[in-house]
Amino acid sequence: MIPVYLDNNATTRTDPEVVQAMLPYFTEQFGNASSMHAFGAEVGTALATARKQLQALLGAAFDHEIVYMSSGTEADNSAIMSALETQVGRDEIITSAVEHPAVLTMVAHLEKTRGVKVHIIGVDARGRLDMEAYRAALGPKTAIVSIMWANNETGTIFPVELLAEMAHEAGALFHTDAVQAVGKIPINLAESEIDMLSLSGHKLHGPKGIGALYVRKGVRFRPLIRGGHQERGRRAGTENAPAIIGLGKAAELALAHMEDEQTRVAGLRDRLEKGLLQRIGNSFVTGDVDNRLPNTANVAFEYIEGEAILLLMNRDGIAASSGSACTSGSLEPSHVLRAMNVPYTAAHGAIRFSFSRENTDADVDRVLEVMPPVIERLREMSPFWRERDVRVAEFKPTYA
Ligand SMILES: *Cc1c(COP(=O)(O)O)cnc(C)c1O
Repeated sequence: MIPVYLDNNATTRTDPEVVQAMLPYFTEQFGNASSMHAFGAEVGTALATARKQLQALLGAAFDHEIVYMSSGTEADNSAIMSALETQVGRDEIITSAVEHPAVLTMVAHLEKTRGVKVHIIGVDARGRLDMEAYRAALGPKTAIVSIMWANNETGTIFPVELLAEMAHEAGALFHTDAVQAVGKIPINLAESEIDMLSLSGHKLHGPKGIGALYVRKGVRFRPLIRGGHQERGRRAGTENAPAIIGLGKAAELALAHMEDEQTRVAGLRDRLEKGLLQRIGNSFVTGDVDNRLPNTANVAFEYIEGEAILLLMNRDGIAASSGSACTSGSLEPSHVLRAMNVPYTAAHGAIRFSFSRENTDADVDRVLEVMPPVIERLREMSPFWRERDVRVAEFKPTYA
């Protein structure tokens, strides 16, 4: 049985070329980049190259706009905390209902402990932002808007360039969690008004435990982690040289494979989606099918549990993920699908298939072979499936 990995929005395999690029910095090239000797200088040169590679992927115009951090989570937290400190007299945050916990948990904490007012903007059935509500929430008290570039569960892409312009009209800073977008879709920060952007190495075939916050030149920034003067005083702590160098290589590879991601990978995703909907009734695609990441498919199989689907898929060597998270014994569907008003009977059975450039046609064939009997088996055991005729499905499939 050949395993099929379709959970690339959770994490990706570190590219072997990335590993190769990192290895010397664990061994001979162990110097501290801050040191005043040859050991340090050589590492310093490699770090400068890595910065350029990441800059190119982001289309960043200036040097020193990238601040390396431990993760996408740290970048999200840092951006929000910094804005609250630098935007004097402004104590409101605007975000969306479908953000990653790295943003939502942080803003909930700030609301509770610091009295910050948080506006959570809703989405429609396809996961698109409620623009009216966004416009209405912006005001003279808005310190920062934090809205993701692309959603990790459905792949829905947000119009961040436009949202940033609107934020600026209200004098607010604009941050985007672009962890899922970077490396998958073209990004050109020099042409946008985005002030801050978060990314994470392990979501683009780089190493885990490295992330970065892009901070536009001229945007004031207050560090979350204080200490030495690394990263120009914006993030203290000795640079994680192997990981930064690995992320640089990953950025270079992502840029080289961007075309492939847009066409071949999207083609695999579309073939899987269509094939599943043809073979399995009472299933539909969630998210904005006209505007989403090329690698993500979120398919809801009605009247069964996502966790059970995953268990059976796993037995056949297929890895994907479900929208629901098992919290405190009760199976709650994902906050993203709930925000989209996907009915519980469907949200519970939502499965996210997320591709990468490493997936093949054979992977799609395999999943199309395994899924129909898995779904059929679970539905045979489901009381909801048996009673489905008496339940009105008010939700209309978004897939055309
Ligand atoms: C994975 C992810 C994060 C967190 O990144 P880490 O580096 O794992 O902390 C944040 N936001 C989104 C949208 C993600 O998918």
